[in-house]
Amino acid sequence: MNFANGELGRLRHARWRSNMEVSLEHPAEEIKRLQRCINDLVSLLALPAMWSGSKPYDIVHTLLDSLLRLLDLDFVYVSLTNPVDAAPSETVRVPQSQEQLFRPRELCTFLNRWLGDDPQKRYLQERSHIGDEEVSLASWPLGVQREIGVIVAGSRRADFPRDTEALLLGIAANQALIGLQQGRLLTEQKRVADELDQRVGQRTAELAAANEGLRMEVAERRRAEEALKRSEAFLAEGQRLSLTGSFSWRLDTDEITFSEELYRIFEFDYDAPVMLEQIVARVHPEDIPLLSEKMDLARRNINDHDYAIRLRMPDGRVKYLRTKSYGIRDRDGRLEHVGAIQDATEHRLSEEALAKVSSELAHVARVTSLGALAASIAHEVSQPLSGIITNACTCLRMLAADPPNVDGARETVRRTIRDGNRASEVITRLRALFSKKEATIESVDLNEATREVIALSLSELQRNRVILRTELASDLPVVKGDRVQIQQVILNLLRNASEALSAVDDRPRQLLISTERDEGDRVRLTVQDAGVGFDPQAAERLFEAFYTTKNESMGMGLSVSRSIIENHHGRLWAAPNDGPGATFSFSIPRGPEGVTGARSLGTIRMPAAEDSERAMGDPC
Ligand code: ADP
Repeated sequence: MNFANGELGRLRHARWRSNMEVSLEHPAEEIKRLQRCINDLVSLLALPAMWSGSKPYDIVHTLLDSLLRLLDLDFVYVSLTNPVDAAPSETVRVPQSQEQLFRPRELCTFLNRWLGDDPQKRYLQERSHIGDEEVSLASWPLGVQREIGVIVAGSRRADFPRDTEALLLGIAANQALIGLQQGRLLTEQKRVADELDQRVGQRTAELAAANEGLRMEVAERRRAEEALKRSEAFLAEGQRLSLTGSFSWRLDTDEITFSEELYRIFEFDYDAPVMLEQIVARVHPEDIPLLSEKMDLARRNINDHDYAIRLRMPDGRVKYLRTKSYGIRDRDGRLEHVGAIQDATEHRLSEEALAKVSSELAHVARVTSLGALAASIAHEVSQPLSGIITNACTCLRMLAADPPNVDGARETVRRTIRDGNRASEVITRLRALFSKKEATIESVDLNEATREVIALSLSELQRNRVILRTELASDLPVVKGDRVQIQQVILNLLRNASEALSAVDDRPRQLLISTERDEGDRVRLTVQDAGVGFDPQAAERLFEAFYTTKNESMGMGLSVSRSIIENHHGRLWAAPNDGPGATFSFSIPRGPEGVTGARSLGTIRMPAAEDSERAMGDPC
């Protein structure tokens, strides 16, 4: 049987009236009862102080224990709504003496059903049967709508709850509500604090891990920076040592970046950014067209440039640069030109010095040959000349005798003529067969000798912008001969060809050197150029000593060369090309006799001295 609030009030009022009637009948008992009630009340009011800081579970337990102790109950039960702190949702207390009658589990099941789900039913009082027992049940909500839970007390007494019991149970319910709310709050606060602590701990750990990661990253970055600095230093040192600088040029903005070494090469101020106009102003005026052409090509995205260019410094010094560059596109597709520039001035100057030395060497070789020729001529001719003079003197003496020895003089004059003829013969032979001295005979690889000469002449050929091609036969046998002399011949032919090409401007300055096997176990070397060529009529005159068409030449090269080749039992000849230019060739046998001294002048001993002595002893 349920009671609404009004009914409960009426019931309470009726009971109050009957109690008053009882109390008036037994005033002493009533005073005792009231004193006990006040004591119980004080005990209940002290509960919140005890609960301070307790958990809901502990609050419920002390509440139930206190109610059992203070009131005459057969059981007391608390059900908590949404319990926190893992507290059980239902707790029941039965005095030991009643445990046989009211089993906690069955009580819970029964009371749960009795209370129902409707939180609007705040106060319930009912006489009901639990098992075989008839009990009075009364409930007090914890919270206006049982937000915290509900207390149910039960007694087999029919008059349960009396006023004081109802009062005490109501106050207990209020106290429990406050205590449980505070406990909940505390638990919630603790949970939040714990959660916060946990989060802070977790965040701290994350931060510590991130910090450690950051520290490692910083250390790693520092290491990388140091490595970068080291490699930059190496690069800068490498650039300094190789006199090579690097650059980049953004074609859309004309922004130019120079490496430190390039600043040094261009002798620009390190602090100022490099401008295109600055570079142009520093380039040698004669090379500006070349620079413009290369820049145009770069702007048209034509890659891979490799060219030589000169700088003219403000004090007039000229620097020779070698430039290699190529175009790349960055992520945004913008064109950039990057490259390296080497200061080749020293290299160039030493090349020029080498060329000068090699030219001087060739000149000395020619002059030496000429000197040797002159000495040989002087030596060989001096003997018949002294015979001529001696005979002439004898002749004079014979004519001056009294009487003059005309027959003797005639004879002496005849001898003079003979010596004169011999001298002239010597000169003729000398011109045909002059030679410095005995040649050094060795095995000569003509290809190798040719390559050495090319190496020596390369800078001169480059200076003359000659395009040199070689076709050296791989199966060429070695020849016996004087390596230096043969190289002198090759050098001479090469130089003549280069000079013949230097006047050519309307076609490529092409030059071909080839070697091949020739008939009769001979080897042949050919120098073919596309130069000015020569008049076919004059083909043989070219080989005459002192024949030259050049202003500052002696015209001895080909004649010395021919004598050298002939000394090697070979042949040197010239032929005009079908097209422009000329071809000079020599062919020499492999040996084994190679160069012999048989044709050298040293062996062509003229008997002039003996003859002149003879003439002196037997003048004419
Ligand atoms: P030099 O070169 O000192 O004049 P050389 O004996 O080497 O004396 O040459 C004689 C001449 O032969 C040259 O002056 C030149 O007129 C001509 N000559 C030599 N080689 C060639 C050549 N490859 N093409 C055209 N003419 C040449």
